[in-house]
Amino acid sequence: MTTPSPSAVAASAVRTRIAPSPTGFLHLGTARTALYSWAYARHYGGQFILRIEDTDVARSTAESVDQILASMKWLGLDCDEGPIYQMQRLERYQAVAQQLIDAGLAYRCYSSPEELDAMREAQRARGEKTHYDGRWRPEPGKVLPPVPEGVKPVVRFRNPQDGDVSWNDLVKGPITISNREIDDLIILRTDGVPTYNFAVVVDDWDMRITHVFRGDEHVNNTPWQINIFRALGAPLPQFGHCPIILGDDGLKLSKRRGAVSVTAYEEAGYLPEAMLNYLARLGWSHGDDELFTREQMVSWFDGSHLAKSPAQWDPAKLAWVNAHYIKQADDARLAALVVPHLVARGITQTQADHLARACALFKDRCSTLVELADWLSMFFLAVSPSEQELQAHVSDAVKPGVRDLRDRLAALSVGVWDKATIAAAIKETLTAHGLKMPQLAPAVRVLVCGRAQTPSIDAVLALFEPTVVLARLQHV
Ligand code: GLU
Repeated sequence: MTTPSPSAVAASAVRTRIAPSPTGFLHLGTARTALYSWAYARHYGGQFILRIEDTDVARSTAESVDQILASMKWLGLDCDEGPIYQMQRLERYQAVAQQLIDAGLAYRCYSSPEELDAMREAQRARGEKTHYDGRWRPEPGKVLPPVPEGVKPVVRFRNPQDGDVSWNDLVKGPITISNREIDDLIILRTDGVPTYNFAVVVDDWDMRITHVFRGDEHVNNTPWQINIFRALGAPLPQFGHCPIILGDDGLKLSKRRGAVSVTAYEEAGYLPEAMLNYLARLGWSHGDDELFTREQMVSWFDGSHLAKSPAQWDPAKLAWVNAHYIKQADDARLAALVVPHLVARGITQTQADHLARACALFKDRCSTLVELADWLSMFFLAVSPSEQELQAHVSDAVKPGVRDLRDRLAALSVGVWDKATIAAAIKETLTAHGLKMPQLAPAVRVLVCGRAQTPSIDAVLALFEPTVVLARLQHV
């Protein structure tokens, strides 16, 4: 038996997690950190855990949990454990808080919200930065105020007052924050529900998380968390804080200025593999590679090459990536994926093999499934070419040729209706009328397809019901 090398042992112990709060859809930023956490775990043969941080009871909803789980599934970010719900672990947090109280590392604070407001007001008036003044913090020789009657206390963490908290961030490099900057944080609310910074530590400890990837907005929470880990004697995970994603206007990507949820992109006709590829590149790189499979990402994602500066959301690039994956996608799969977009247009009577053939013809012109559905609609819904297009392409010079083609197609329609027979009918028409393809084809396209540019017209017509083609060529 061979002994595994130390690095192999360490690698197999990698455990990452994503911990969304179910107060809305899965945000693109969270999806990106989920992807990094997942890819990191998969790269090292470790485990990826999904935890639902639902302690904000007023804002958490079951609907949002469902949407988050659905988006994770859609993206294919499979977890090895979870979903684990924090609200099902209240007793554990309360027990750990008690353990800290017993060890003198946390304490009950009976200050009412009004008292805290007054405290901050006075600090502001003195020009100080607002902070909890430690009035319930036990100190050797200090006499605490008498416990007020009928007031439910919160529990605060007794943060060290001296020294610094430092860590080597996987993304940002070394970070140091002085303990003087940090208050005694509330870890349990009066109702016994933990705050984020406490629950996250107990969970990361209990779940033996080794690497935490999360958004930049949590950098300032990390010193508190590190201090709590230390107070608990728990091993520290490594932290990596990914910069925010900027919108294409250079401001923080936000709901007000466009879609920020994974669901919105699913609905807008993006493929999951395109989203993953695009999200991966927003803050991470592997040389100049822009297009890669999830397997490639997993093999490359070792925690290096994470960008320190914010990435900018680029809808045009995402569309380009999506177009690539649509082009690559299997026709039968595309046919199934386009169905909901057709149904949204009222098109319900479709056949899988017909759709697959249509997808094969149109997929290299589409950036999204919505665009694909736009193309495919011509086979099911009446088209209405603009007056301008009719005038431009269905000229008097070409009309006799169109009428003749219609007659030839009518004859075909009772026999063999396919690309080759249609191509032959078109060729005969061109010869008979001395027309060129660039005269006849746009006229037929405008009348039958509603637009002057399509893939090869014989191939397009072959996908129509002959009666539909004949009806659309009728009034020339
Ligand atoms: N619930 C937190 C969030 O959604 C998790 C942050 C973390 O990963 O620690 O931002």
